[in-house]
Amino acid sequence: MLTAELTDVSYKKTEHYDEATTAKLIENYRTAIEQLGEDPEREGLIKTPERVAKAMQYMTQGYDMDAKAILNSAKFQESYSEMVIVKDIELYSMCEHHMLPFFGKAHIAYIPNGYITGLSKLARVVDCFSRRMQVQERLTHQILDAIQETLNPLGVAVVIEAKHLCMMMRGVQKQNSITTTSAFSGQFEKNETRSEFLRLISADLH
Ligand SMILES: [Zn+2]
Repeated sequence: MLTAELTDVSYKKTEHYDEATTAKLIENYRTAIEQLGEDPEREGLIKTPERVAKAMQYMTQGYDMDAKAILNSAKFQESYSEMVIVKDIELYSMCEHHMLPFFGKAHIAYIPNGYITGLSKLARVVDCFSRRMQVQERLTHQILDAIQETLNPLGVAVVIEAKHLCMMMRGVQKQNSITTTSAFSGQFEKNETRSEFLRLISADLH
Protein backbone atom coordinates (compact mmCIF):
# COMPACT_ATOMS: atom_id res chain seq x y z
CA MET A 1 0.00 0.00 0.00
CA LEU A 2 1.27 3.40 -0.94
CA THR A 3 -0.46 6.56 0.15
CA ALA A 4 0.75 9.95 -0.90
CA GLU A 5 -0.41 13.43 -0.11
CA LEU A 6 0.24 16.00 -2.74
CA THR A 7 -0.79 19.08 -0.82
CA ASP A 8 2.42 20.77 -1.87
CA VAL A 9 1.71 20.43 -5.57
CA SER A 10 0.74 24.04 -5.95
CA TYR A 11 -0.49 25.82 -9.02
CA LYS A 12 2.28 27.30 -11.08
CA LYS A 13 1.21 30.65 -12.41
CA THR A 14 2.56 30.55 -15.91
CA GLU A 15 1.30 32.68 -18.75
CA HIS A 16 -0.79 30.72 -21.18
CA TYR A 17 -2.50 32.70 -23.91
CA ASP A 18 -2.60 33.29 -27.62
CA GLU A 19 -2.34 36.85 -29.00
CA ALA A 20 -5.09 36.59 -31.65
CA THR A 21 -7.53 34.89 -29.27
CA THR A 22 -6.72 37.46 -26.59
CA ALA A 23 -7.50 40.36 -28.95
CA LYS A 24 -10.91 38.91 -29.83
CA LEU A 25 -11.76 38.12 -26.22
CA ILE A 26 -10.80 41.65 -25.11
CA GLU A 27 -13.41 43.08 -27.49
CA ASN A 28 -16.05 40.65 -26.26
CA TYR A 29 -15.39 41.26 -22.58
CA ARG A 30 -15.38 45.03 -23.11
CA THR A 31 -18.84 44.71 -24.68
CA ALA A 32 -20.02 42.41 -21.87
CA ILE A 33 -18.88 44.91 -19.21
CA GLU A 34 -20.80 47.66 -21.01
CA GLN A 35 -23.90 45.45 -21.34
CA LEU A 36 -23.77 44.82 -17.60
CA GLY A 37 -24.09 48.57 -17.02
CA GLU A 38 -20.48 49.46 -16.29
CA ASP A 39 -18.09 51.88 -17.95
CA PRO A 40 -15.24 49.85 -19.51
CA GLU A 41 -13.21 53.07 -19.86
CA ARG A 42 -13.02 53.92 -16.18
CA GLU A 43 -9.66 53.48 -14.53
CA GLY A 44 -10.35 50.31 -12.56
CA LEU A 45 -11.84 48.53 -15.56
CA ILE A 46 -9.68 49.72 -18.41
CA LYS A 47 -7.40 46.67 -18.33
CA THR A 48 -10.02 44.23 -17.04
CA PRO A 49 -11.02 42.79 -20.46
CA GLU A 50 -7.37 41.94 -21.13
CA ARG A 51 -6.89 40.38 -17.68
CA VAL A 52 -10.06 38.31 -18.02
CA ALA A 53 -9.13 37.24 -21.55
CA LYS A 54 -5.77 35.95 -20.32
CA ALA A 55 -7.18 34.40 -17.13
CA MET A 56 -9.87 32.50 -19.04
CA GLN A 57 -7.30 31.07 -21.44
CA TYR A 58 -5.22 29.98 -18.48
CA MET A 59 -8.22 28.32 -16.87
CA THR A 60 -9.09 26.44 -20.07
CA GLN A 61 -5.56 25.35 -20.98
CA GLY A 62 -6.54 21.72 -20.36
CA TYR A 63 -7.75 21.54 -23.97
CA ASP A 64 -4.11 21.71 -25.04
CA MET A 65 -2.99 19.02 -22.59
CA ASP A 66 -2.90 15.30 -23.36
CA ALA A 67 -3.64 13.17 -20.30
CA LYS A 68 -2.39 9.94 -21.82
CA ALA A 69 0.87 11.57 -22.91
CA ILE A 70 1.32 12.90 -19.35
CA LEU A 71 0.86 9.43 -17.85
CA ASN A 72 3.00 7.71 -20.51
CA SER A 73 5.82 10.20 -19.90
CA ALA A 74 6.44 8.52 -16.54
CA LYS A 75 5.17 4.97 -17.07
CA PHE A 76 7.43 2.38 -15.51
CA GLN A 77 7.35 -1.40 -15.46
CA GLU A 78 6.96 -2.49 -11.85
CA SER A 79 5.71 -5.62 -10.12
CA TYR A 80 4.15 -3.67 -7.22
CA SER A 81 0.51 -4.69 -7.10
CA GLU A 82 -0.87 -3.09 -3.93
CA MET A 83 -3.25 -0.17 -3.96
CA VAL A 84 -1.62 3.19 -4.76
CA ILE A 85 -3.52 6.16 -3.36
CA VAL A 86 -2.96 9.86 -3.95
CA LYS A 87 -5.14 11.96 -1.67
CA ASP A 88 -6.07 15.62 -1.53
CA ILE A 89 -5.15 16.68 -5.04
CA GLU A 90 -6.12 20.33 -5.32
CA LEU A 91 -8.65 20.92 -8.05
CA TYR A 92 -9.95 24.09 -9.69
CA SER A 93 -12.42 23.85 -12.53
CA MET A 94 -15.21 25.84 -14.13
CA CYS A 95 -18.82 24.76 -14.45
CA GLU A 96 -19.87 24.76 -18.07
CA HIS A 97 -23.41 25.88 -17.30
CA HIS A 98 -22.52 29.17 -15.61
CA MET A 99 -18.80 29.58 -16.27
CA LEU A 100 -18.25 29.92 -12.55
CA PRO A 101 -15.58 28.04 -10.61
CA PHE A 102 -15.99 24.81 -8.76
CA PHE A 103 -13.10 23.71 -6.59
CA GLY A 104 -12.11 21.07 -4.09
CA LYS A 105 -10.11 17.89 -3.88
CA ALA A 106 -9.62 14.73 -5.88
CA HIS A 107 -8.60 11.39 -4.39
CA ILE A 108 -7.26 8.79 -6.80
CA ALA A 109 -6.30 5.15 -6.38
CA TYR A 110 -5.22 2.41 -8.71
CA ILE A 111 -3.98 -1.15 -8.42
CA PRO A 112 -1.00 -1.64 -10.77
CA ASN A 113 -0.94 -4.46 -13.25
CA GLY A 114 2.71 -4.38 -14.29
CA TYR A 115 2.96 -0.62 -14.72
CA ILE A 116 3.02 2.39 -12.43
CA THR A 117 3.19 6.11 -13.15
CA GLY A 118 4.78 9.07 -11.40
CA LEU A 119 2.57 10.27 -8.54
CA SER A 120 2.77 13.89 -9.67
CA LYS A 121 1.48 12.80 -13.07
CA LEU A 122 -1.84 11.88 -11.49
CA ALA A 123 -2.13 15.46 -10.23
CA ARG A 124 -1.34 16.74 -13.71
CA VAL A 125 -4.09 14.56 -15.18
CA VAL A 126 -6.50 16.25 -12.76
CA ASP A 127 -5.31 19.64 -14.09
CA CYS A 128 -5.64 18.46 -17.66
CA PHE A 129 -9.34 17.71 -17.31
CA SER A 130 -10.27 20.34 -14.71
CA ARG A 131 -8.88 23.30 -16.65
CA ARG A 132 -11.77 23.17 -19.06
CA MET A 133 -15.46 23.94 -19.10
CA GLN A 134 -16.71 20.99 -17.11
CA VAL A 135 -19.31 19.18 -15.09
CA GLN A 136 -18.01 17.34 -12.04
CA GLU A 137 -19.47 13.98 -13.11
CA ARG A 138 -17.67 14.01 -16.48
CA LEU A 139 -14.45 15.23 -14.90
CA THR A 140 -14.50 12.23 -12.53
CA HIS A 141 -14.94 9.75 -15.37
CA GLN A 142 -12.38 11.37 -17.67
CA ILE A 143 -9.70 11.05 -14.99
CA LEU A 144 -10.62 7.41 -14.42
CA ASP A 145 -10.67 6.55 -18.14
CA ALA A 146 -7.29 8.17 -18.82
CA ILE A 147 -5.64 6.12 -16.06
CA GLN A 148 -7.46 2.93 -17.00
CA GLU A 149 -6.60 3.20 -20.69
CA THR A 150 -2.95 4.20 -20.18
CA LEU A 151 -1.77 1.98 -17.31
CA ASN A 152 -4.30 -0.84 -17.77
CA PRO A 153 -4.34 -1.38 -13.99
CA LEU A 154 -6.44 -3.94 -12.12
CA GLY A 155 -8.73 -1.13 -11.05
CA VAL A 156 -9.05 2.65 -10.68
CA ALA A 157 -11.00 4.74 -8.15
CA VAL A 158 -11.64 8.46 -8.34
CA VAL A 159 -13.52 10.55 -5.76
CA ILE A 160 -13.99 14.29 -6.18
CA GLU A 161 -15.44 16.63 -3.57
CA ALA A 162 -16.12 20.17 -4.70
CA LYS A 163 -17.93 23.38 -3.88
CA HIS A 164 -19.68 25.07 -6.77
CA LEU A 165 -19.81 28.86 -6.83
CA CYS A 166 -22.83 28.70 -9.12
CA MET A 167 -24.70 27.12 -6.19
CA MET A 168 -23.13 29.31 -3.52
CA MET A 169 -23.39 32.76 -5.14
CA ARG A 170 -26.66 32.44 -6.98
CA GLY A 171 -29.67 30.19 -7.35
CA VAL A 172 -30.24 28.03 -4.32
CA GLN A 173 -27.41 29.72 -2.34
CA LYS A 174 -26.38 26.60 -0.49
CA GLN A 175 -23.14 28.00 0.89
CA ASN A 176 -21.82 24.91 2.56
CA SER A 177 -22.94 22.09 0.35
CA ILE A 178 -20.24 19.89 -1.08
CA THR A 179 -20.84 17.77 -4.15
CA THR A 180 -19.17 14.36 -4.11
CA THR A 181 -18.78 12.25 -7.22
CA SER A 182 -17.05 8.93 -7.63
CA ALA A 183 -16.13 6.46 -10.33
CA PHE A 184 -14.74 2.94 -9.96
CA SER A 185 -13.41 0.32 -12.34
CA GLY A 186 -12.06 -3.24 -12.12
CA GLN A 187 -11.33 -4.45 -8.60
CA PHE A 188 -12.83 -1.29 -7.10
CA GLU A 189 -16.22 -2.50 -8.29
CA LYS A 190 -15.88 -5.14 -5.56
CA ASN A 191 -17.30 -3.98 -2.24
CA GLU A 192 -14.28 -5.01 -0.20
CA THR A 193 -11.69 -3.12 -2.26
CA ARG A 194 -13.90 -0.08 -2.63
CA SER A 195 -14.54 0.01 1.13
CA GLU A 196 -10.85 -0.18 1.87
CA PHE A 197 -10.17 2.77 -0.43
CA LEU A 198 -13.04 4.81 1.04
CA ARG A 199 -11.84 4.02 4.56
CA LEU A 200 -8.32 5.18 3.69
CA ILE A 201 -9.52 8.51 2.34
CA SER A 202 -12.39 8.94 4.80
CA ALA A 203 -10.36 11.03 7.23
CA ASP A 204 -10.31 13.63 4.46
CA LEU A 205 -13.89 13.27 3.31
CA HIS A 206 -16.41 15.77 4.61
ZN1 LIG B 1 -23.11 25.82 -12.63
